[in-house]
Order: sequence, then C-alpha cells, then structure tokens
Amino acid sequence: MTAKIRVIGGGLSGCEAALQLADAGMDVELWEMRPTVTTPAHKTGNLAELVCSNSFKGLALTSAHGIFKEELRLMGSRLIALAMESRVPAGESLAIDRDLFSAAVEKAIASHPRITLRREEADSLDPRELTLVATGPLSSDKLTQSLFSLIGSERLYFFDSIAPVVELDSLDLDQAFAKNRWDKGTEPDFLNCPLDKETYFAFVEALVQADTVEAKPFEKGQLFEGCLPVEEMARRGPETLRYGPMRPIGLHDPRTDKRPFAVIQLRAENRQRTLYNLVGFQTRLKWGTQKQIFSLVPALKNAAYARFGAMHRNTFLNSPQVLEPSLRIKGTRIYCAGQLTGAEGYTEAIGTGMYAASMILAHERGEASFAWPEASCLGALTRHLTDPNPDFQPMNFNFGLLPKVETRSKKDKKGIQIENCLAALADFRPFPAFAGC
Ligand SMILES: Cc1cc2nc3c(=O)[nH]c(=O)nc-3n(C[C@H](O)[C@H](O)[C@H](O)COP(=O)(O)OP(=O)(O)OC[C@H]3O[C@@H](n4cnc5c(N)ncnc54)[C@H](O)[C@@H]3O)c2cc1C
Repeated sequence: MTAKIRVIGGGLSGCEAALQLADAGMDVELWEMRPTVTTPAHKTGNLAELVCSNSFKGLALTSAHGIFKEELRLMGSRLIALAMESRVPAGESLAIDRDLFSAAVEKAIASHPRITLRREEADSLDPRELTLVATGPLSSDKLTQSLFSLIGSERLYFFDSIAPVVELDSLDLDQAFAKNRWDKGTEPDFLNCPLDKETYFAFVEALVQADTVEAKPFEKGQLFEGCLPVEEMARRGPETLRYGPMRPIGLHDPRTDKRPFAVIQLRAENRQRTLYNLVGFQTRLKWGTQKQIFSLVPALKNAAYARFGAMHRNTFLNSPQVLEPSLRIKGTRIYCAGQLTGAEGYTEAIGTGMYAASMILAHERGEASFAWPEASCLGALTRHLTDPNPDFQPMNFNFGLLPKVETRSKKDKKGIQIENCLAALADFRPFPAFAGC
C-alpha cells in the first residue's frame, strides 16, 4: 500500500484534500504553480485564493448551502473551519476576509509535517501514480494537454454555456404540457411551456432590452454560432427564437389541440426529475433579470431556480463519462476534485476535495464498498457528477439533488431532506486514521 500522493493545485479543493490526506497519515506533495505561472483570474500567489466574491453563501440550516456547510463542518472540513475563523459580518452568510483565510490555509499547509509544498507547474500526469488533480476552472495549458492525452479531447470542455435550471415543484403545471416533438419516443421526456403571440413578443423585447453580465477580458470572443446566448438570438430579429429553441413545430398542445405560437421546452436535469433545464436557453443575463424575464412565461411565473444561466470560461471534465463514483479517472490512479469535476462554487470545491480524499483513503485501505450516504449533500452532489447525463454541465449544490421525498408541501419536503441528511451522517466517519505503510 502506498502512503504517498501528489496533489496538483493549491486552490480550495486541493488544499482541503491535502490537509485531510495528511491528517490521515499520508505523505502529500502539493503542487501549486502560482506565483510563477498564473491564471487569468487569480491575483496573488496565495493558496486557496478566492477568485471573485468573498462569500461562501448562506449558513441558515434551512438553506441548501447552509445544510451543505453544516455537513462539511460535521465531517471535519479543515477549510470550512478556517473560513469560520476568518469571518466578516454578513448576516446569515459566511463571508470571509480573503487574505486572513489564505494566510490561515498557508499556515496549516506549511506547518503540516506530512505536506511538502512545491511551487511548480505540474505538466504531466502518470496514470499509475496516485494523484489528485484539483487544478480548477483555469487549469494550466500543459496540464490540460496531459488530461487531453489521457481521456480524449472530446471529454474536456473549456467553456460552459449553462441554461437555467428550475425546480419542478415551483412550476405551474396547468400552464404546461408533457410531450416530445412529433410524439417521438415511448413516454414524454419534455415539459413544454407555451407562449401566445403577445407574450412571445413581450418576452423577446424584454430580452433585447436586458442587462447582461460583462464578459471578463479572457472570455471575450469565445461565442460559438451553434451556442449563442438567448438574448443575442433575440437581438438578431423578433422571429429568431421562434425558429430556434422556441420553435413550436411538432408540439401540438393536447389541451387546445393547437400548435402554440412559441414554446420553451424543459428537460429533466436529474434522474429523479425534480429539476428541469430550459432547453437551449444559455444566457449571460444577470440573475435577477433572468428571473424577471422568464416569469413572463405563464408556466414559469413563480419558478424557483436551482441554477441560473451562465456562460464563462471553465475547464471541466465530462465527469459522467470520465469519472467513477469515487471521482477517479476510469482505469487510472488519478482522482479529480473541485470545479474540474463540474462541482460549481467555493463550498462545492472544498466539499469535493474532502470527498475525493475520503475515497482515496478508503481505496488505499482496501475498502472498495466505502461510500458517502445517499441522503448526504456530498453523496447527492457526486452522484450528479457521475450519473449518466448526456447534457452534463457544472452545477452548484441544491435541494433538487437530494433524494426525493414524497410530500405535498415544499417546506416539509426540504425539512425532511435536511433531517434525512443529518440522520445519515450521525454515524458516518469518512476519515478514520490511515495506517498505510
Ligand atoms: C472568474 C471566476 C469567478 C468565480 N467566482 C466564484 C464566486 O464568486 N463564488 C463561487 O462560489 N464560485 C466562483 N467561481 C467558481 C469556483 O468556485 C472557483 O473557481 C473555485 O475557486 C474552484 O475551486 P478549485 O479548487 O476547483 O480551483 P481553484 O481554486 O482555481 O484552484 C486551482 C489551483 O490550481 C492551480 N493550478 C492550475 N494548473 C496547475 C498546474 N498545472 N500545476 C500546479 N498548479 C496548477 C491554480 O493556480 C489554482 O491555485 C468562479 C470561477 C471563475 C473562473
């Protein structure tokens, strides 16, 4: 059994994993290329640098991010503990002083007797060497090339174009109908949200006038004709969307026996069919604007969003094809964590770093059956990353990923999901001390 591992990337996921692995008794070589080689978004050479906002989102135990952080805290996350120590006042959210936080992570890494920090770019991967790749959304070119050779270029993406995802419970299903175009297939996979003529043109006008998020300098000029933001399509002419993602052809509404003027199609995002994405609705609209404009569509009037649309530079794997449930690249000894796996967000990066560390330790102990509880947040998030999904895109943690519970009230449903999660974690210990040779 080996007791040595190379962790590539000293960001949120890499630092969490390095500390967990070292605490459990493994010797860790942590590679961080900054400040020698930098990324277009990082500004310092600090470990665990937050590239943008200083918020880890909500702490309230009734929110998805609150319960997620509580799980990480209960399971012994090193970085969540350091984030709590670096807090700045922000109501019920966990916002931090980013310099204090990075300094605390650097101190924990530098003072750990089992961690060696190498300030170098890792430029190659050996499938036989126990490795954790945590190089993030802006992985270096050389490392990306090495991933290309290992898994094939078609399984690694550089840009995400994310359509909004809504919670099924929040839709007005009286204003929608289930149907596949031309009635193809055995059962309907799509929910269709029709718009009449007046609503359609009001919707298009709102898109044309809307505020978009300014692209970062390194993201400009990267739009593909086949994957334009909806607001850009709307600007090309009032009928463009009706001949594009909103085309109603082949979608007779069974309630009226007429073809609607235009349609937004929703497709299930997860196996449990609790989350639906707006097909072809990748967008750069500001989040509040998305909510406001999509509420013009009758079925989406009160929609709750598990994820808003986005388009930005982001290196990520086609995880369902490439990774085992343990986040190991199939057929290798290389594990992955963080945004590279499609787990979007700071807390998700820390969580998947922790998860990967626990899976590595379990495999090295010979416990092939080790798994996180299904009802836990990390169990649910990593299931989303590795379950088959032909339209895989990065995702934040949200309630829609947790196992479905049958109850009429949405409030009760979330309460039960939280109870189930905490109950499942009560006797779960992901990090028994590692006794490798
Ligand atoms: C511009 C931008 C803004 C974002 N803003 C937010 C936000 O506000 N809130 C939020 O929740 N999420 C945000 N995210 C998404 C995501 O949560 C963060 O990117 C998060 O930091 C990801 O953590 P990570 O550990 O996967 O990667 P990172 O934190 O980026 O860490 C990866 C590390 O690997 C290093 N590295 C890369 N290649 C190599 C190599 N070959 N050898 C050695 N080291 C290497 C990098 O220098 C970096 O330190 C943002 C992403 C981007 C790109």
